[in-house]
Amino acid sequence: MPATTSREIIPASRLDNVRYAIRDLACIADEVAKKGHKILPLNIGDPLNFDFATPPHLIEAVYQAMKDGKNGYAPSPGIKPALDAIRAEAARKGITTVQDAFITSGVSETVDICLTALLNPGDNLLTPSPDYPLYSAVLAKLGIELNTYTLNEDDGWQPDLIDVHKKITPRTRGIVLINPNNPTGAVCSRRMLEAIAELARRNNLVIFADEIYDKLILDDDKCLSLAALAPDVPVITFGGLSKNYLAPGWRIGWGIVSGEAAALKPYIEGIHRLLRSRLCANHPEQYAIPAALEGPQDHLVEVNAKLRARCDLTVKWCNSTPRVSCVAPRGAFYAYPRLDIPEGDDVFVKELLVKKHVLVVHGSGFGQKPGTHHFRIVFLPDEQTLTTAYANIADFIKTRYK
Ligand code: PLP
Repeated sequence: MPATTSREIIPASRLDNVRYAIRDLACIADEVAKKGHKILPLNIGDPLNFDFATPPHLIEAVYQAMKDGKNGYAPSPGIKPALDAIRAEAARKGITTVQDAFITSGVSETVDICLTALLNPGDNLLTPSPDYPLYSAVLAKLGIELNTYTLNEDDGWQPDLIDVHKKITPRTRGIVLINPNNPTGAVCSRRMLEAIAELARRNNLVIFADEIYDKLILDDDKCLSLAALAPDVPVITFGGLSKNYLAPGWRIGWGIVSGEAAALKPYIEGIHRLLRSRLCANHPEQYAIPAALEGPQDHLVEVNAKLRARCDLTVKWCNSTPRVSCVAPRGAFYAYPRLDIPEGDDVFVKELLVKKHVLVVHGSGFGQKPGTHHFRIVFLPDEQTLTTAYANIADFIKTRYK
């Protein structure tokens, strides 16, 4: 027997590449907060941390469901009234070839299930860089190597089609398109969506259209649904209550599968096997789906007005601050400014937190072109909080990089 017997329980090595920079920083923030400092949190995309509230008619619907005894397990794909409402929403989005819809514990679970049901060892999936880190975390868990395509900052963070084309291999099974985008706030044009659909069509790819922010639009344009423009292409469109309907804690998301029925049949069966194996999504909260999709949408007017003002303030600050520049976001509530600094953005973000108590997320947590540095801002806080945070960041930059 060895002199010292380690009793440490070592986690599986498949976790080595599972990272989630947005929450990983929370530990350092806790240390700073323990010292009595108030943190200005520009890091987590949770509107409920700020002056946004879940619409009351959604809360009523869940409360009523609980009172009506809807507290047991739900059917694995979801309850019928909610699935009907999701299909009607798909029709409003212009998706005409819906083959299936299912409800999950947030879009996070939709992603996990859809990728797990599709990918074999050796397959790959095209994901954007920068990326919302959920995708790379799920792929790491599945032991699938990353195959990223570039979002081009010089082109308003639109997908670089030449790069997408270059990265397709015989084992590429699909492509993820986040639109409106986290972390850049970019929204894709019709031409871009059609071009992505054409690449998928020619190369037999499934498109994962993450449209969780599709009602949070900062200019006059609408967010077009990729599946609506490509009825023949296999697309899973992701949506949920976390962002558009201000209820992230309820963990309600969904997938809408569209395309040709015969081609999709085996994949849909695979997805349903996984849906059954995890029993069901949160039950009473599913009753908020018809209320959300078919009830009053008034909250969106107020939310988008607040977001527009906060976005303008953010862009103005970025573009008037030395060493910072930013492509103006057009959707969601994120900005992804570029930093001209002589050190890593991870160091920048940690030092900013320790010295100025402002919490943002480093660009290396999302991915960026080698040699460039960025950080992600969540511009959900009110103008006064943002103004204070931006003054602190500007001051930090001025002192650190004289
Ligand atoms: N997809 C994107 C692009 C996101 O930004 C998020 C959350 O921030 C999710 C999915 C996860 O959403 P949910 O809360 O529904 O799991």
